[in-house]
Formats: sequence, C-alpha cells, structure tokens
Amino acid sequence: MNALHSTIRHSAVFDHPEMGEHENVVFVKDRDTGLSAIIAIHDTTLGPALGGCRVWPYGNPSDALTDALRLSRGMTYKNALAGLDLGGGKAVIIADPRKDKTAAMMEAFGRHVDRLSGTYITAEDVGVSPQDMEAVARQTKHVRGTRATGLGDPSPYTALGVFEGIRASVRHVFGNGDLEGRTVSVQGLGHVGFDVARRLHEAGARLIVSDIHLPAVLRAVEEFGALAVDPAEAHMVEADIFVPCALGAGLNARTVPQIRARIVAGAANNQLQTPADGAALKKRGILYAPDYAINAGGVISIALATPGGNDAHVREKTVAIGDTLAVIFERASAEETTPERVADAMAEERLEKSGKT
Ligand code: NAD
Repeated sequence: MNALHSTIRHSAVFDHPEMGEHENVVFVKDRDTGLSAIIAIHDTTLGPALGGCRVWPYGNPSDALTDALRLSRGMTYKNALAGLDLGGGKAVIIADPRKDKTAAMMEAFGRHVDRLSGTYITAEDVGVSPQDMEAVARQTKHVRGTRATGLGDPSPYTALGVFEGIRASVRHVFGNGDLEGRTVSVQGLGHVGFDVARRLHEAGARLIVSDIHLPAVLRAVEEFGALAVDPAEAHMVEADIFVPCALGAGLNARTVPQIRARIVAGAANNQLQTPADGAALKKRGILYAPDYAINAGGVISIALATPGGNDAHVREKTVAIGDTLAVIFERASAEETTPERVADAMAEERLEKSGKT
C-alpha cells in the first residue's frame, strides 16, 4: 500500500461524498520522482475516459480526491454533451507546478497512465504545459493535446468556446451578442483566461482582471488597458459579465450574494460548489453558463484533431458551443429550471440512448 493511500482513511475513500458511479479510482505513488497522483475513471459508456491532468499543491490528499472525483464526473457530462464518443476521467498530481514538477515526474505519470491500457486518456489541465504532455507521451500513447496527436495545446480552443459562450449568454440576456462597451471581470489569467481576455478586448469589452500570479495581471493591464483588482474581489465588481477562469467552487453561499454581474460565463471547471448555488444564481436573476458546456472547446480539439491538424473542423465544432448554450438557455427558461440542470439532462439523454445513465 502506498503512503498516499494510507493517509486517506478507508471509509473516507469509499464513503466519499463525491464518490458516485466511478468505475475505477487509482492511487499512484512514485518514490524516485516524488509523484503522488490520483486517476479517476468515472464512466466509459460512450468510449475511453478522456480528461486532463491537473498539477496542484492540494493541502491534503482528501482534497485531491474530491477534485479528481468531481472533475472526472464532469468530463463524462462534458464529453456526452459535446457529442463526443468518449467517457469521463481525470487525473490530479499533488505538487506545486511552479516548484515541484519535473519531466521525470511527468514521465512516471505517463507510465501509470499506460498501465490503464487505454481506458483513460490524459491531456493538459491546470498546471500542465504542452512540454509536460510531451514527457507523458514518451511513456504512453494514451495522451492527447500534443503536437504529434493533433493541434497541440487545447487552451486556445477552450478560450474560443468560452468567448462564443459569452456572446450567446449576452445575446440571451441583452438581446444581442455585441460586446462593445460591456464590462467583463476575468478571474484567472492562465492559458485560457488570458486568451479569453484578449478576445474580449478585441471585441471592444472593458476588462477588469485578477490573478494570484502578478506577472499575468501586469501583462493584461499593459496589453489590454485592463483594470486590475484583488482576485478575492473579482466576483464583486460592477460588471456585466463575470468570467471565472481560475479554479472551481468559486460560486458558493458566500460569493453568489455578492455577485453584481448579470452573467457568469467562464472556463473554470466545477464552478458551482453545490447545486443550491446554481438555484441561488437563478433566484438572483443571474444567467449561468454551465461550466462543462461552455469550456468544451479544449476537449473537442483534443478528441477531433488528427495528426497534422484539422483546425477548421475543430473551430466549427467549438464555435457551435454558442448554439448549444442558446438551446440550454431557452430550455431552462421554458422549463423554469436552471441551465446546469438542462445541460445535465441533455448529457444524460445521450448516455441513456447509449444504454446507461
Ligand atoms: P492555468 O493554470 O493556465 O491558469 C489558471 C490561472 O488561475 C493561473 O494563472 C493561476 O495563477 C490563476 N489562479 C489560481 N487561483 C486563483 C485565484 N484564487 N484567483 C485568481 N486567479 C487564480 O489553467 P487554464 O488551463 O487556464 O485553466 C483555467 C480553468 O479552466 C481551470 O479551472 C481548468 O480546469 C479550466 N479548463 C481548462 C481547459 C484548457 O483547455 N486548459 C479546458 C477546460 C477547462
């Protein structure tokens, strides 16, 4: 038994509140490279479980497990809703991406992915660069989002989808999708958030930006004339749209009552801490673009790309995220429910048609 496993109480694993219908959860430890990781495969009904690998300095293994379980379930729904023939999975590596991560550690992770015989396919997520994925690809062929497998870094496609999703949200709330003069608060200026900010800037939006990593903030201020705010205040500022592009659970009982924007539409996975937070947004008249619907551009690029790249097809499918969101918003209005409930129902309808919910 490895050290990571032994630090999680037995019951805390099997009775974990986020443990659902997960098919396989693997705890990984590699002494030589310092790798501690969890790989969660949620559902393979529609195909092999595809989902990114996150490197993050979790406070304890239980938090890492929570993230892996939630994110892998989210991938099942994301892939189903995006019309991909893929199941849902996710990996988390417990390490500080700026201090602890090494090529050897990523290679060790690749060897563990390879042991899963293609039931899990890995890719980039928070804290992982295209170079890291090249290291993983030296050890397993079950990796996407590298130059060799297609279009490389999926983040620009995620950003394109988020931008189209923001436009669809603006159209639903304000009657047209014009972003000229709209004020947008972007929280998190990483691979996706910075690109979303750039697109918004080019579309004429006024930007308010925040990140815990100061250099990214300074760059956005300089390049986009953005106003910088404390990351903890990003959701509170006066804006038309709040765009969370950092980590999950940012929409919760404390933050939802403080939001002043009419729309929440961003890339972060698992933005709602609980379903009640989605209901609270609806009650406050704030339109929420379900995270896994709006941020599917990256996984679309990973899933549909072919070696050599077929950018036009991937872009077309990614731009269509705006149309999917328009359908979700219409249905939510008609059924007097929340957009995330409609997105779940649409994903489950597809899984049901394939023989399983
Ligand atoms: P990234 O690591 O490149 O960027 C994340 C940024 O958020 C970093 O700059 C980090 O400093 C910042 N950050 C962390 N905590 C913060 C806080 N409390 N306040 C403000 N900023 C904070 O990651 P990314 O690839 O840009 O992904 C961003 C989000 O989008 C994540 O939730 C990820 O799961 C999700 N997502 C990414 C992709 C993709 O293609 N990269 C696809 C789908 C979803």
